[in-house]
Amino acid sequence: MRIVLLLLFTFSLYAKETLLVSILPQKYFLEQLVGNNFQVKTLIPPGASPATYSLKPSDLQIIKKAAYYFTIGVPFEKANISRITSTNPNLKLIDTTKYIRLYPMQAHHHEAHDHEDHRHSGLDPHVWLAPNLAIQIARSMLDTLLRIDAAHKDLYLNNYERFAKETLALDKEIYTKLIGIKNRSFLVFHPSFGYFARSYNLEQIAIEQEGKEPKIKDLLKLLQKAKAKGIKKVIIEPQFPKRSAKIIAQKLGAKVVVIDPLAYDWQKSLKSLADAISH
Ligand SMILES: [Zn+2]
Repeated sequence: MRIVLLLLFTFSLYAKETLLVSILPQKYFLEQLVGNNFQVKTLIPPGASPATYSLKPSDLQIIKKAAYYFTIGVPFEKANISRITSTNPNLKLIDTTKYIRLYPMQAHHHEAHDHEDHRHSGLDPHVWLAPNLAIQIARSMLDTLLRIDAAHKDLYLNNYERFAKETLALDKEIYTKLIGIKNRSFLVFHPSFGYFARSYNLEQIAIEQEGKEPKIKDLLKLLQKAKAKGIKKVIIEPQFPKRSAKIIAQKLGAKVVVIDPLAYDWQKSLKSLADAISH
């Protein structure tokens, strides 16, 4: 009994501090840096949308135990931040987009959409979907780790260097796949890949309207545009409706490719996207 108590005591002394993130790709970045020194918890679970997910009681328990929350600017954060900070007033917020220049959401039917189903007000939040920006996100995470756990400075610096090298290799791989391809436009239901398109000189064309399926009139316009551009790939995301994308693909004789912008295996999603566009 005494040994068990001792073990429990020792365990609680060495219990790892919890770092919170919003989405799985952030967990991937942060875990590359922290090694085993911290526990990283994601608030938005696999398959849920960062636009519509609402906190569960189990999330509040996690929030209570966390020390830092690394934010990335997804709509979920704005919608829930007061609930999160009132649940844990000691939680410190870290903005991981501080080194990144944000661009407006790609305009398709409106300058920006601000809809209750998918609230993107003006600036495009999908910064994690471009390798060059992922390095900047990791650097802001590194800043914080060096400040809060300076004892492991060398480990964090080395991990950051390794992550940056791997990510540059990924960037080179994607860039190489896309060299010389003639058709640089792609259709996608939700415009998640604006920064990806910007990084590789591609054109992203969104199907959705304000986070919802487009009206027939707009669908026909899109179809004409896609035909004129010779688009043969339609990208859909698991978090969004698929009906209009499938209709467009059928009319174009195009292939539908599912890419998850919120997968933990972030590299795989970006490689699959590059493959879809280049083939
Ligand atoms: Zn989005």
